[in-house]
Amino acid sequence: MSWAPRKRFGQNFLHDTDIIQDIIQVLHLKHADEVIEIGPGQGALTGPLLQHLSHLTVIEIDRDLADFLKQQYSASQLTLFQEDVLKFDFRQYFKQKGLRQNLRIIGNLPYNISTPCLFHLLESCDIIQDMHFMLQKEVVERLAALPGSKEYGRLSIMVQYYCKVEPVFSVPKEAFSPVPKVESAVVRLIPHQTKPYPVLDMKLFQSLTTQIFSKRRKTLLNAFKPLLTLQDFEALNLDSTLRPEVLSLETLVKITNYIYQNKGRD
Ligand code: SAM
Repeated sequence: MSWAPRKRFGQNFLHDTDIIQDIIQVLHLKHADEVIEIGPGQGALTGPLLQHLSHLTVIEIDRDLADFLKQQYSASQLTLFQEDVLKFDFRQYFKQKGLRQNLRIIGNLPYNISTPCLFHLLESCDIIQDMHFMLQKEVVERLAALPGSKEYGRLSIMVQYYCKVEPVFSVPKEAFSPVPKVESAVVRLIPHQTKPYPVLDMKLFQSLTTQIFSKRRKTLLNAFKPLLTLQDFEALNLDSTLRPEVLSLETLVKITNYIYQNKGRD
């Protein structure tokens, strides 16, 4: 079937059968896995996924594509939500279905919503076994980036707080139709069962992360103004002349917890 792709829904359909098989292989699917595919589109991954699964749930915003998929697959095989994934309540879905095993999330994500979609899913990390996404290669590099690199920033910190990040393989643009402007890559995210560096206040952690990475060329002393003084840096055993971009997740969590415990609470 040929479909006029809708740009506003980030529709770049995957057509390279070798890449599709490579994705299926790295998933190591088990028949009874509880898989949700985000943005099934014309079903490039949906059909191959269903060859390995007894059932699949998909979330697709485009009504025409949702209708098409409903005609292709029986309701016993495929549960379809014609919805915006950013509004989909994964926790409620999990509860309503009375699931005993965590979800596996898969998707060739629409590039225009990939970052908000990742942040939305992080909120439900505790009910997710793993996530495999096709993303812009540049986004995968940011997810996996280490302190000190130019890709390292808010996205790296927030995703690495919740998940282990494993880039899996790169995908050339020609694997899609229409051909996008940039290269893609598949990434695996595995939520930590126990967070290696837990924060005491998530909102504070989020706002500090945003604050310091909007000032990445400044010194830590300037980036953390007015929250931290030189004495605080001494107490934290941290060089105040460093740049925010060299802070590890562990150190940023340490600073957050220090501020939470020592500052601004009456
Ligand atoms: N999985 C298909 C493939 O690999 O060929 C399609 C991938 S295409 C990059 C992204 C898909 O996500 C499209 O089908 C698009 O309609 C759907 N989509 C876009 N925005 C969405 C949203 N907010 N919620 C759910 N699906 C969305």
